[in-house]
Amino acid sequence: MIIHSPDYELHQDPYHIENKDRTKSIMQNLYDKNFLNHLNVSNPEKSSKKDLLRVHSPGHVNHIQEFCEKGGGYLDYDTYASPQSYQVALLAGGGAIMAAEKVILGEKWAYSVSRPPGHHAIRENAMGFCLFNNAAVAVEKIRDKYDKKRFLIFDFDVHYGNGDADIFYDDPEVMYVSIHQDPHTIFPGKGFLEEIGSGPGTGFNLNIPMHPGSNNADYIWILDKILPGVISEFKADLLLVEAGFDAHRDDPLSQINIDEDFYSWVGVYLMGLQESMAVILEGGYNLRALAQSNSVFINSLLDHKLLPSAEYKTQKEIETQYLNKDKVSINTLKTFKEIKDNFSPFWGL
Ligand SMILES: [Zn+2]
Repeated sequence: MIIHSPDYELHQDPYHIENKDRTKSIMQNLYDKNFLNHLNVSNPEKSSKKDLLRVHSPGHVNHIQEFCEKGGGYLDYDTYASPQSYQVALLAGGGAIMAAEKVILGEKWAYSVSRPPGHHAIRENAMGFCLFNNAAVAVEKIRDKYDKKRFLIFDFDVHYGNGDADIFYDDPEVMYVSIHQDPHTIFPGKGFLEEIGSGPGTGFNLNIPMHPGSNNADYIWILDKILPGVISEFKADLLLVEAGFDAHRDDPLSQINIDEDFYSWVGVYLMGLQESMAVILEGGYNLRALAQSNSVFINSLLDHKLLPSAEYKTQKEIETQYLNKDKVSINTLKTFKEIKDNFSPFWGL
């Protein structure tokens, strides 16, 4: 099921790349492709201030609220808040909670198509277009309300989710796995291989930094080397997927060259490993690529029933085409070797 509200469009700056056209183009494409006759779309409820305070400091939450009430503006050089952004951010937190809760209660998958995004927001601060950390808000709500202890967050946004990593860095019950562009070459300049967690959380922060130019073969091969072992050994009560579509080759913010074939593969592949998942939208800034990638991603979660067969490839077709060590770059092979060396004390890779 999809969780979405048109009110997400009230967080808006038309001159910023993270603007209302993003979710609008995703939903419009689902409508144009006739998905909405076959898919449940639910309206989220706003999260409460208490929900935010399980993750963020009172100083940060109050600052965002007051900043918006005074008319908004820029919080830092690239993160804005408009007058209604605090309320919209409560809704994005609520969307993430609802997706997680639906899955805990038996739904196979639930996808919160929301904004503003969340994975850069740290405990004390907004950053990187993110006001509050939606995934972390969902984790803490579920931990508080249900007898669920273990959470695996998998993030395929092209940027490292430094907020998630930071919030759960010493927490062995929340594992964060992120595949992203090499942080030497992209915001936020963190997410290196050596950042593996601290204290009791050591080994529970797994970064897969990908060299610029990496393609479908690199992404699919390295994830297939890492995810099955980690997912089966960690045994999460809930898999949360942070779905960013900005690693697409047409995205203006990155230098990774994956395309719709990857997005048609990753959802169904994850479902094969964990059987259910809550998905939260993160980035994606080329509107056509964002909309089309979302359609193939959602189509794959619905057993490929909604798109005509000319518009997507099945998991089997994609694996036949790309899952081959000979098609993987030297950089990706090197990255995997280093991950294996770093994580062999923790996970059977
Ligand atoms: Zn991103």
